[in-house]
Amino acid sequence: MTVLKPSHEHGWKSVTKGKLSSGFPFHPKLAEWLSTYTTIPKDSELEILEVSCGEVSCPTEETLIVWGKQEFRISRKKEMISKMDVDLSWKRFVEKS
Ligand SMILES: [Zn+2]
Repeated sequence: MTVLKPSHEHGWKSVTKGKLSSGFPFHPKLAEWLSTYTTIPKDSELEILEVSCGEVSCPTEETLIVWGKQEFRISRKKEMISKMDVDLSWKRFVEKS
């Protein structure tokens, strides 16, 4: 069996920090959907991170929302996150924790 190894390294790059109540500049609806579909506290300071990758042809696109010691991961580019991504990713997050 061959184990597929990524040809390059990925890390996380911080995009912005803010609260759900003030919204996020890169996505007009994300804060509203997070308020509706998750139990992330509205007054928590959140940090949004995305996969940092220098490869133009790399298909990996992920967004990470961090508050306190919690890390909520959505497998979608931050600008492209849909209502369903938030809902399904949150259900998975709750199952795991
Ligand atoms: Zn990559």
